[in-house]
Amino acid sequence: MDRARILIIGGGVVGCAVAHAVSRRWQDVFLVEQLPRLGMATSSRNSGVIHSGIYYPPGTLKAQLCPEGNRLMYEFCARHNVPHRRTGKLIVASDSREEKELHALLARGRANGVEGLRLIGPAEIRAREPHIVGTAAIDVPSAGIVSAEDLVKAFARVAAQQGAEIVTHARVEALEPQRDSIRVTLRIGDDATAKHETIEADCVVNAAGLYADDVAAMLGNRSWRIYPVRGEFCEIRGPRAALVNGLVYPLPLPEGFLLGVHFTKTLWGTLLVGPTGTYVEGKDNYERNRLPISYFARSAKALLPEIEESDMQLSYSGLRPKLVPPGGKGPFDFVITRDPHVPQVIQLVGMESPGLTAAASIANRVAELVSEILA
Ligand SMILES: Cc1cc2nc3c(=O)[nH]c(=O)nc-3n(C[C@H](O)[C@H](O)[C@H](O)COP(=O)(O)OP(=O)(O)OC[C@H]3O[C@@H](n4cnc5c(N)ncnc54)[C@H](O)[C@@H]3O)c2cc1C
Repeated sequence: MDRARILIIGGGVVGCAVAHAVSRRWQDVFLVEQLPRLGMATSSRNSGVIHSGIYYPPGTLKAQLCPEGNRLMYEFCARHNVPHRRTGKLIVASDSREEKELHALLARGRANGVEGLRLIGPAEIRAREPHIVGTAAIDVPSAGIVSAEDLVKAFARVAAQQGAEIVTHARVEALEPQRDSIRVTLRIGDDATAKHETIEADCVVNAAGLYADDVAAMLGNRSWRIYPVRGEFCEIRGPRAALVNGLVYPLPLPEGFLLGVHFTKTLWGTLLVGPTGTYVEGKDNYERNRLPISYFARSAKALLPEIEESDMQLSYSGLRPKLVPPGGKGPFDFVITRDPHVPQVIQLVGMESPGLTAAASIANRVAELVSEILA
């Protein structure tokens, strides 16, 4: 039986960022990922936007960790050659009612410490984005885009250089608290050759994304339930991708539940339209009953009247690990906490957007909790 000082469950961007942060300070760090490669779930099925932190209610973890994560993201990407670009972003109002909301959003962003925010008018919108129609916009200079896949790989590469052991094809099937440790049962390998192994870990980090509620339930903690909300994308390739130069968003939907269908110019010169938001059954339900392209064209026309259905093709989708049930109210913030009953376990639940942006700051917060556990 192996021993681990710290065992991280889940090799998405959050788990890999945690491995990177904790392997700087401790030895015998393990990360286990059930899929054949790292970052194959939500971490490679998102918009790849480096958010600024403007949207989140002041005082929430998202409001603190997103602006901090934004700064850490640019530093990490520059140091480790992760493809990224500080594009800036426009959040655009279409009429005077929306302009009122725009002012409220601007005040919120400033309260969250987001730097450089500025209100601009139609002439400046046209100069930046000639095809976008709006009466006013917030210019968000700290927003940008990153290659999420390369970011995950870079966190994992540096973690491994620092001594972390990263194992794919390794699924956690059981967690049993012992007196001073957690016994972790792993199923390693694919179906034909799979074998079971156990590891005794002093500290366990649950970074299992969509499955974080199931992993918590392995310890009898049923405090959370994750509801997958599918975000679907369309893509524009070729010359019509030039309809948008950078990042263009409408105002977010009420209560910050979703950011609204927006435009993202990718690092590869294509234009993403989306994501949408629909509750779905099943944590692997990426493709059943996809929305038609006409839906995207309708949603996009308010800001970009020239867009046509024929410009777009359906692209990938991703699942948000929402804690808010369909039609209901529920926790909106990230959950980053030591388990109340098994305090050697750190639970990361509801790690939806801006989890990619905030990964490094979430990881620093986790490292503080680890140091309490291992003190
Ligand atoms: C449509 C969409 C758009 C988004 N856009 C943005 C954006 O522009 N900017 C932004 O900041 N954020 C964005 N996000 C959010 C961001 O993608 C997530 O917050 C982030 O990827 C979460 O990472 P994670 O590591 O927690 O989860 P995941 O990437 O899901 O990783 C969890 C991993 O745990 C593994 N796992 C689960 N159970 C087990 C087990 N029992 N044993 C071993 N391994 C296990 C899974 O296989 C998975 O690989 C978006 C999300 C979606 C869905």
